[in-house]
Amino acid sequence: MTAIAVLGSTNMDLVAYVPKAPRAGETVTGREFRTVPGGKGANQAVAAARLGGEVVMIGAVGADEFGVRLRSALAASGVETAALRTVEGASGTAHITVDDEGANSIVVIPGANGRVTGLEPGDDSRIGAADCLLLQLELPLEAVLAGARAARAHGVRTVLTPAPAQPLPPELLAATDLLVPNEHEAAALTGLTDPHRAAEALLREVPEVVITLGAAGSLYAARGREPLEVPAPRVRAVDTTAAGDTFVGALAVGLGEGRAVPEALRWASVAAALSVQRPGAQSSMPTRAETDAAAL
Ligand code: ATP
Repeated sequence: MTAIAVLGSTNMDLVAYVPKAPRAGETVTGREFRTVPGGKGANQAVAAARLGGEVVMIGAVGADEFGVRLRSALAASGVETAALRTVEGASGTAHITVDDEGANSIVVIPGANGRVTGLEPGDDSRIGAADCLLLQLELPLEAVLAGARAARAHGVRTVLTPAPAQPLPPELLAATDLLVPNEHEAAALTGLTDPHRAAEALLREVPEVVITLGAAGSLYAARGREPLEVPAPRVRAVDTTAAGDTFVGALAVGLGEGRAVPEALRWASVAAALSVQRPGAQSSMPTRAETDAAAL
């Protein structure tokens, strides 16, 4: 079994479905409201656990009802939550408005995630025991850096999703083995909109890059190797939320099981394509059996 540590965010997504989003000062009547567990860290943890990884989630939830639900949603997917602390105050929330065109606007309030500023006792050995550490940028940068440093010290592979896009400190790049931006994040990091050129630029900072390209698949680049374009299976997408997180979780499991990179990428593409055919974030993520069957 692949052992995966995730140091990242856990949010409750509060989703309001409205015919048209309100302008400043306006009140509109919406159609429906849902609360859905999310956060990039938790999403990647759930994706990897459903696909057969042995996953520990490191981070924090608040001492509120959302915190209880967020923890149990992770546990229900088989994620180990002993290193997910409960801290004073509110859990992280994402306030999402989705209109009839499918366009969304989002306010994220980090809450408990913002109070994770470093590793707690026991986290260093949890990271050291993993085959791979998954990182994103929804925790304070000092916590992400502390995780990356611990992984580096133990020789554990680090996979960084640079979202939300922001400039990356050189120390974090130096401790990253595999960087997985989507095309917008790759462009924001490099100023280059062509994925091949962006990948080339990113390889000056990290040894391996996968740029995800939505329905167009992904592009893998590594120093000293020909770039590899991996097509996405052609499917009817109904909701692409967390496609990227499903892809990263699956990639970590595939690589940890010793698959060669092209094979792990194809398997991750199959898992992500399954997730876009169903609504929701964590609820859309496929199981191991589904993914293996679809990958045949
Ligand atoms: P999100 O923010 O919604 O989690 P993302 O922007 O991080 O997604 P994408 O590049 O949109 O990431 O998608 C990640 C991967 O998911 C793609 O590389 C692809 O393999 C798969 N994927 C995304 N959209 C589709 C689609 N419409 N059809 C098939 N596969 C898809």
